[in-house]
Amino acid sequence: MGNSVFLKGATLIDGNGGEVVQNAGILVEGEKIVAIGEANSVKVPETAEVVDLQGKTVMPGLIDAHVHIMGGKSLNLAASALEPTEVQMGRALNDMPKLINAGFTTVRDVGSILAVHIKTLMEEGQYKGPNIQTSNQVLSQTAGHGDMHMLPPEFNTSRICDGVPDCMKAAREQFRAGADLIKICSTGGVLSEKDDPRWPQFTVDEIKAIVHEAEAVGSYVASHAQGAEGIKNALVAGVKTIEHGIYIDDEGIDLMVKQSAYLVPTLSIVKRIVERGHLHGVPEFGIRKAKRVYETHKEHMVKAYKAGVQIALGTDFAGCDPVDHGENGLELELLVKDVGMSASEAIQAGTKTAAETLGIEDTLGTIEAGKQADLLVVEGNPLEDVTTLVNTDNIKQVYVKGELLKDIS
Ligand SMILES: [Zn+2]
Repeated sequence: MGNSVFLKGATLIDGNGGEVVQNAGILVEGEKIVAIGEANSVKVPETAEVVDLQGKTVMPGLIDAHVHIMGGKSLNLAASALEPTEVQMGRALNDMPKLINAGFTTVRDVGSILAVHIKTLMEEGQYKGPNIQTSNQVLSQTAGHGDMHMLPPEFNTSRICDGVPDCMKAAREQFRAGADLIKICSTGGVLSEKDDPRWPQFTVDEIKAIVHEAEAVGSYVASHAQGAEGIKNALVAGVKTIEHGIYIDDEGIDLMVKQSAYLVPTLSIVKRIVERGHLHGVPEFGIRKAKRVYETHKEHMVKAYKAGVQIALGTDFAGCDPVDHGENGLELELLVKDVGMSASEAIQAGTKTAAETLGIEDTLGTIEAGKQADLLVVEGNPLEDVTTLVNTDNIKQVYVKGELLKDIS
């Protein structure tokens, strides 16, 4: 038994991509949505608090399927590695209300050592913020994307593992620490010094062993995968989600469709590094590589989208300029502008499809009776113009588990 709230009179986008419901009624009890429909058709208990939302839009809370909760000062990862973890924890906790302010009620952290502890603090009620799914440490091979090439090995916060037995152990260690999924790097990347986004990393056997460990505990694997070969290696080995996907080829696209895998493009970080990286400490090699991949990335995402690959919203934002948490709505705009999605499809990428990507579609991602009450009240109609959601002033209220965490109405 919790408090009842009846949200009345708004235009409802339920996240399923169908027609909106005008003059909708949503009854929330405690953490859950218990009834939904046209306002007049919902039976409302006398004790319920009624919130009049005429002229507003209600939609599911947004989900960012690719963030890092790391509290760094800049994208200069070598400099970040030398800072005290306690300082970074303070910054990372400050990022939680910023995500809520932007309407992101769930995030998937794919690499940090702080998120498992922030989850604990939020479960204790010490802090409020979005629901978090986390991989804890990234798994990378020696000299891979997650290995800090520019520093001695002891500065790594990733788990460096080589060979099948070590990869299995590394995956088990993450679950021991409280991970919800495993994140690996099956190619090089942009912000790693001595590798190239096109190079494959880990063998198929190593990735298979990690997938085996994840599936044994009912979880799954997400792979940082940018080059065509490493994308396919990951898919052949049974990875569920492909992160970035920059150089995906036709074979890779085919495999993704066949296996119902999910693609998380993270267009936002590449755009931000290209445009503003030089102002914020991104090393020269990172800017050079980002510029090189930018156009190719967009072209390949359009191809994947047209082929019917399931695409989820992810920014790769990490909580420092130029990839601040709280600006994650940018990806919605880019899914429309750069990939060619409709506003409705972009919203689905950030709600329903993102929930499927995280495997939490039974409780989140759409507004339906029985689901968790993670809702946004928005000024204007994001189906007409998705950038409505980029301006956080338009996000008037944010509910997480039925609790009002933002209210500027
Ligand atoms: Zn990332």
